[in-house]
Amino acid sequence: MYDINKVREDFPILSRTVYDRPLVYLDNAATTQKPRVVVESIMEEYYNVNANVHRGVHYLSQQATDLHEASRETVRRFINARSTSEIIFTRGTTESINLVASSYCDAFMNEGDEVIVSVMEHHSNIVPWQLQATRKGIVIRVIPMDDRGELMLDEYEKLFNEKTRMVSVAHVSNVLGTVNPVKEMARIAHAHGVPFMLDGAQSAPHFAVDMQQLDCDFFALSGHKLYGPTGVGVLYGKEEWLDRLPPYQGGGEMIDNVSFEKTTFERLPFKFEAGTPDYVATNGLAKAIDYVTALGMDNIEKHERELTKYVMEKMKNIDGMAVFGTSEHKDAVISFLVGNIHHLDMGTLLDRLGIAVRTGHHCAQPLMHRLGIQGTVRASFALYNTKDEIDALIAGIERVSRMF
Ligand code: PLP
Repeated sequence: MYDINKVREDFPILSRTVYDRPLVYLDNAATTQKPRVVVESIMEEYYNVNANVHRGVHYLSQQATDLHEASRETVRRFINARSTSEIIFTRGTTESINLVASSYCDAFMNEGDEVIVSVMEHHSNIVPWQLQATRKGIVIRVIPMDDRGELMLDEYEKLFNEKTRMVSVAHVSNVLGTVNPVKEMARIAHAHGVPFMLDGAQSAPHFAVDMQQLDCDFFALSGHKLYGPTGVGVLYGKEEWLDRLPPYQGGGEMIDNVSFEKTTFERLPFKFEAGTPDYVATNGLAKAIDYVTALGMDNIEKHERELTKYVMEKMKNIDGMAVFGTSEHKDAVISFLVGNIHHLDMGTLLDRLGIAVRTGHHCAQPLMHRLGIQGTVRASFALYNTKDEIDALIAGIERVSRMF
């Protein structure tokens, strides 16, 4: 196990105060804080290396290109992809899913064809498909869940028919924390000859994800939720699929040869990377990955699962506490309401105690409808959170509850 106090020193923001109270940062599902090595790598690159990548013959351009491409290899190793051709840099999970929805529909979907998503998706795995529904007349089918927040696999299987072309689901729910049985779900999709995409925004930061073991065809993640910079993310895709998809955007970097008569495209992964990439952010992401890898993803998972178990136990003692998502396969996200206290009131008053949580629908309005609520308070954990911080959260909730 790592030394949590030493680790916390790597994140300068964690020692600041808000409203003269120590910050208790429990909004990690929205974004994580950045270790010094990530911030320093950004400064170092802008101060000493900065030049546009890929096109330059000069020293700086080659150095920046080497860093950028080494970052791709770091990502490849982190998720155990077969080749760097399968690692596409995007702006984040949202862009990764939009890329697949757009290119895959262009190539393989026609009016009436169906995509399967689940009721617990983030809007970024709903709306891109709805845009394609408007453009091409595709149909969205939805996997229901039970009251513990677990997807109903028997209902999932029933959704397949000869029109099914794609399954795209969250690996971990950003509201319920449910870790979905995605290996089994991928197996079922493949048994029907359908590719399987995972939204890994809430899994990749919390436990080891291995593309060979998961056997998904596409996987999306966001750098900023993985202790890296904002504005960078990854789309993993099996080469056999990426090869068959048309480009998502056109421009520099993604072409082989351009003429007004005919343009040919670059090889993978560049075919999907139009324009200047955020090469400083990709290097920052690689530094974040090196950081979590050095701590050990298994250690991070163990630590966060312990925190989750601890908070779930403590919450049982709070009068009127309703926790949404009680699956035993639960990751570092707790959504709750207390009695009739509005989530916004609870979040605002916790904030005054220095405790940062998120309130609202968490970009999952269909899930809120399923739960019959408008929103929740959400506390979400990261590798640097402590049991003391959870005690502060519990004391804060009790204090706010007494005020109502
Ligand atoms: N999917 C899930 C499950 C998420 O939690 C989020 C962000 O909260 C996203 C997708 C979108 O990520 P981003 O805004 O980084 O693209």
